[in-house]
Amino acid sequence: MQNKQMDLPIYIDNNATTPLDERVLATMLPFLKGTFGNAASNTHQHGWVAKQAVDTARKQVAHLIGAEESEIIFTSGSTEAINIAIKGVWDVYKNKGNHIITVKTEHKAVIDTCEYLQQKGAEITYLDVDAAGLIDLQQLENAIIDKTILVAVMYANNETGVIQPIEEISEIVHAKKSIFFCDATQAVGKTMLDVSESGIDLMCLSGHKFYGPKGVGALYIRRKNPRVTLSPLFHGGGHERGLRSGTLNVPGIVGLGKACEIAAVEQWDNNVHVSKLRGYLEHQLLDIPSLRINGSTKHRLYNTSSLCFSGQSSAKLIGEWNPYFSVSTGSACSSALAKPSYVLEAMGLSEEDCYASIRFSFGKYNTQEEVEKAVDVIKKTLL
Ligand code: PLP
Repeated sequence: MQNKQMDLPIYIDNNATTPLDERVLATMLPFLKGTFGNAASNTHQHGWVAKQAVDTARKQVAHLIGAEESEIIFTSGSTEAINIAIKGVWDVYKNKGNHIITVKTEHKAVIDTCEYLQQKGAEITYLDVDAAGLIDLQQLENAIIDKTILVAVMYANNETGVIQPIEEISEIVHAKKSIFFCDATQAVGKTMLDVSESGIDLMCLSGHKFYGPKGVGALYIRRKNPRVTLSPLFHGGGHERGLRSGTLNVPGIVGLGKACEIAAVEQWDNNVHVSKLRGYLEHQLLDIPSLRINGSTKHRLYNTSSLCFSGQSSAKLIGEWNPYFSVSTGSACSSALAKPSYVLEAMGLSEEDCYASIRFSFGKYNTQEEVEKAVDVIKKTLL
C-alpha cells in the first residue's frame, strides 16, 4: 500500500487526512499534463474540455449528497467553504438579525469565524454538549430568537466522531425560520448523507478527507425551500456564480468528483471494513485498566475511536508509538498547540484526561494485520 511504499509507519490518523485513491490520481493526471485548459475559456476546445470535466465533477459531488448541480460551488476546502457560508450569511442577513448559534465542539474554522463576526457586532451563542458530545435539542430551541439568522452545527466531530441529530436540528431551525449550516467535512464520503432528507441549507465538504486531493472542496447552497443567498468573500472574474472568483483548480476538482463517485458506490463497504478494525482495537484494549472511550458509542462515525488512557500522557505515548504507527491527540489543525482539547473539555473531561486522550481514525487502506501490530505495541507499552 501507499504507506509501505514510502516506508512510513502504519497510518491510523485518517480524520486528519487520507491517502489519495489511485483511481482519483489517474483521473487527475491528464489535467496536470496535456489537458491544461482554463475552464472559463469559452472560445476554444482547451477551455471547453476543462469546463466539461468540471461539469462532470459537479454532477458527481451533487449526486453523492443528494443536491442539484447548481447548488454546488467549488472551493479550496472546508475552511474556505465555512468562511463563505458563515460570513456570507452574516453579510446578507445582518439587517434581519445579528444572532448566530453554534456549538462549543465545532472545528476551529467555525469557532474562529464566529469570533471574527463577534468583533463585527454579531452575538454568538455557543451551545453546550453533554458527556456523550451531543447537543441538547431543547437548549437549541430555547436559544433561537427572532434575530437568529444562522445555526451552525457540525455533522460529525473530527476528534470523537460523534454524530449530531441532524434531522431534528434542521426541523427546529426551520420551524424558527433560520438557516442551518452544517460542517460535514468528516461525514461526507464516510456516511450516507442527503441534504434534502436531512434539511441542511448550507454544507461544506473537503476532498482530502475521503481519498481525494488536498486543497479542494465544495460548498452546498440550497436554492429552494428556502433559497439561501450569500455574498462572496472573493471578488474577481465572477466564477462559481459570482460566489467564488478565481480560476478553477481543474485537476483538483476532477479528483474531488472522482472521490465522490467512488464514495457513492463504496462507502458502505468501507464502513463495514473500518468498523471491524475499530471494534478489534477497542475490544483488545478493554483489558487496559482505566481505558475509556470518549463520546457516544451509539452516535459515532464507524472509523473513529477517541480513547482516554487515564493517568497517562498522550504526548509521551504517541512519542513511544511513533516509530510503529501514526495517531494524534485530535484535530490536526490544533495538535501543535500545547492546550488541552476544547472538544473534550466541553464534554466534561478533566484537564488530566484531556491530556491522556488519543484519537485513532481508520481508513479503507488499513488492514487487520496493521491494527494487530498497533494493538501489540500499545499493550507492550501499557501492560
Ligand atoms: N471541519 C472539520 C470538521 C474538519 O475536520 C476539518 C479538517 O480537519 C475542517 C473543517 C477543515 O477542512 P479543510 O482542511 O478542507 O480546510
